[in-house]
Amino acid sequence: MPRQFFVGGNFKMNGNIDTIKSIVSHLNDAKCDSNTEVVIAPPALYLLLTREHLRSGIEVAAQNVFDKPNGAFTGEISVAQLKDSNITWTLLGHSERRVILQESDSFVAQKTKAALDGGIGVILCCGETLEQREAGKTIEVVTAQLGAVAREIKDWSKVVIAYEPIWAIGTGKVASTEQAQEVHASIREWLGKEVGGEAKEATRIIYGGSVSEKNCRELAKEKDIDGFLVGGASLKPAFVDIINARQ
Ligand code: PEP
Repeated sequence: MPRQFFVGGNFKMNGNIDTIKSIVSHLNDAKCDSNTEVVIAPPALYLLLTREHLRSGIEVAAQNVFDKPNGAFTGEISVAQLKDSNITWTLLGHSERRVILQESDSFVAQKTKAALDGGIGVILCCGETLEQREAGKTIEVVTAQLGAVAREIKDWSKVVIAYEPIWAIGTGKVASTEQAQEVHASIREWLGKEVGGEAKEATRIIYGGSVSEKNCRELAKEKDIDGFLVGGASLKPAFVDIINARQ
């Protein structure tokens, strides 16, 4: 079975009520490829507003979720609260959280387990720094990040892996198609070895890092690139061109 193309939009800590309503209204009216699964991740404060105004057929993701069901965890949001609000996905392990908030591989893995156990899909981010790439450690770093998750979960059917080289995020410096395909193929091999044949064939591996309407079509031709996680460009009308990259 071919893997369905998947495009996520990560708004990060951007937007306000007006701009988010306007992005949603643009998406509602846009001609989006019906073969692409689209999920947008606004800031937590605007999740409900987004869900309320967004047309059906496009899903909404949180940018993070906590691993405990409820209780004294100030500032956090639980999986059950997301489900209650019809938010069906979450990003986890974004490099901005790994680096700035020092989230460890094992914490990301625990949160992934909690999200999946609670019935939420996970866009699981992984990726290396420039120093790690230059030291030839890309695959080692990425598989260590994914390996921590593999120790917590068995079923990868509701996980989309987002390979996001940190040096390409928000820098305008996109990975070449060859660089991205090489890492995606290695992740697929790793899935085959560590998780199993079905996960190897079925798991979507999407690319993130300065994806734009200009570079998405070339990247989308690669055999192991099953879509994109888009930051900056997801706030712009050109996001629709990225959704339609395979047309
Ligand atoms: C991201 O935040 O996941 C991302 C890929 O950002 P950008 O597209 O802006 O590089």
